[in-house]
Amino acid sequence: MKLSKMHFKTLREVPKEAEIPSHILLLRAGMIKKTAAGIYSYMPMGWRTVRKIESIVREEMDAKGCQEIRTSVLQPGELWEESGRWSAYGPEMWRVNDRGGREFCLGPTAEEVFTDIIRGDVTSYKQLPLSIYQISNKFRDEARPRFGMMRSRDFIMKDNYSFDRDYEGLDASYNDMYEAYTNVFTRCGLTFRPVEADTGAIGGSGSHEFTALCEYGESEIAYCDSCDLATTVEKAACVDAPEDTSEMLPLEKVYTPGTKTIDQVADFLEIPKEKTIKALLFITYNEDGSEKEYVAAFVRGDRELNMIKLVNVLGIHEYAIEFADEEKMAEKTGCVGGFTGPAGLSDCRIVVDSELTKLKNMCAGACETDHHYINMNYGRDYEADIVADIKVLREGDPCPVCGAPVKHARGVEVGQIFKLGTKYSEPMGCTYKDENQKDRPMVMGCYGIGISRTFQAIIDMPQNHDENGIIWPMSVAPYHVIVTIVKSGDADMERTGLEIHDALEAAGVEVILDDRKERPGVKFKDADLLGIPIAITAGRAAAEGRVEYKNRADSEKIEVTVEAAIRMAIEKVEKERDGRHYFNK
Ligand code: ATP
Ligand code: MG
Repeated sequence: MKLSKMHFKTLREVPKEAEIPSHILLLRAGMIKKTAAGIYSYMPMGWRTVRKIESIVREEMDAKGCQEIRTSVLQPGELWEESGRWSAYGPEMWRVNDRGGREFCLGPTAEEVFTDIIRGDVTSYKQLPLSIYQISNKFRDEARPRFGMMRSRDFIMKDNYSFDRDYEGLDASYNDMYEAYTNVFTRCGLTFRPVEADTGAIGGSGSHEFTALCEYGESEIAYCDSCDLATTVEKAACVDAPEDTSEMLPLEKVYTPGTKTIDQVADFLEIPKEKTIKALLFITYNEDGSEKEYVAAFVRGDRELNMIKLVNVLGIHEYAIEFADEEKMAEKTGCVGGFTGPAGLSDCRIVVDSELTKLKNMCAGACETDHHYINMNYGRDYEADIVADIKVLREGDPCPVCGAPVKHARGVEVGQIFKLGTKYSEPMGCTYKDENQKDRPMVMGCYGIGISRTFQAIIDMPQNHDENGIIWPMSVAPYHVIVTIVKSGDADMERTGLEIHDALEAAGVEVILDDRKERPGVKFKDADLLGIPIAITAGRAAAEGRVEYKNRADSEKIEVTVEAAIRMAIEKVEKERDGRHYFNK
């Protein structure tokens, strides 16, 4: 392929909307183009990489016996009514009507459609297990689309669904997918970690997220070097502070003028933040959007509230809760801005972190302006509707498994696998007849890989970019080799460049020839920006049959003969093109 013939435009400037390396570099390298907020188009080079990621995914799925199908982007609302998710899915779902007013959505995922397909076709235990998948665009009207393809509103996802006779079968299918995902992400050149995950709105009994480790990621994981703990921070259980066995002191209301924050009240009363109780006030909504109830959540003053744990104990979706308008809430519940405590509230669900029930003589708001209580004790001075672990596991907190201090890391969730059980098969009547002709619900799993997110996450790995541009792993690079003719019009350079290009192409290497009439500096900058793994340069020494050879990953250039350059490139491409060499690292 000749670069002069390719639709391709690089940018020197950093586009304003881009903040993280992968987004900046994909735009600068002209691999993607923004169409609207959270909606992107893939340009020829970018699309080649996406297709390579898809091929790796297909190979690994097929190796586990999964079969590829393709369903429509349009999904009828009735199917979602059957599973109960039409009203439960929330504002991320794109809803559309046909001309007759029938309701559809643009599929954000496809549990219902796949369950529907299988319930019609599979009737006997002899036809199970079965796992089918698709690679297709998914649509989610994200509240805050950002970081380009990382969180977009139209993205490519591989999703597959396993159907088993029983839970043992599901465990086997799940383990197969765990292995397949490990292979996919390894071959794509990611540094990643599978972590235990919350099952969230999809529901089910077990889940892992595959997190590509990098500082720009939106996910936070907690892990322990002393044991196997690896989990999303959202899901991580916390160890409560040990039981305080001191005497309960008499409850006292104290004047604390203007001390609305934990820091202010702790300073004013000269007590550590650990002796205070923090209040967080919310309103929750019903599925039809009407107001449900007020919620006051309490954690120790130095702690953070874990929203996922809170919505889980309340049994609601994340989108069905938001911070309350405190003035409106005050009229009904008696809360008072920065002076709300667990005693003195009415008409409000009180959720207290389990740790607080073990602590003595705490300080909390008195539900009265400029006043706090001191020596507050759970059981004597206040009670809760729900006592549960609702706090965030912080870096350095004791590991919930072994007690050693936990560590935190940031990353990008590139895939997730779920054990669904019968969550969809039961309500949707996806059953089979067992050996005794008895009807049983199929036991399902579902498994997703964000193809477009992976595309971008690969670049954010520290080893896959530098200040000059992208460094694609061979397995997903748009081309394996770029051959640069330093000066177009120079007969030796042109002849040599073309000779290398043709020889590599004949050997099955994907090669691009930079034959543009551009200054050499522009060509070298573009080659680095594009991140093609091997660069061969036909410059002045071409007249003597010599060229420069460079691996993008290290900046060292060597001068070699044309034959040697061709041989070295073929050898390296052969060794790395399927990404399996990463298994030996
Ligand atoms: P997130 O928590 O990041 O919103 P999710 O847990 O809702 O993602 P899943 O339903 O598990 O996502 O979807 C499977 C995969 O699809 C995710 O692991 C992720 O890689 C990808 N994905 C999900 N939402 C988006 C999005 N808005 N843009 C790009 N990829 C996405
Ligand atoms: Mg997920």
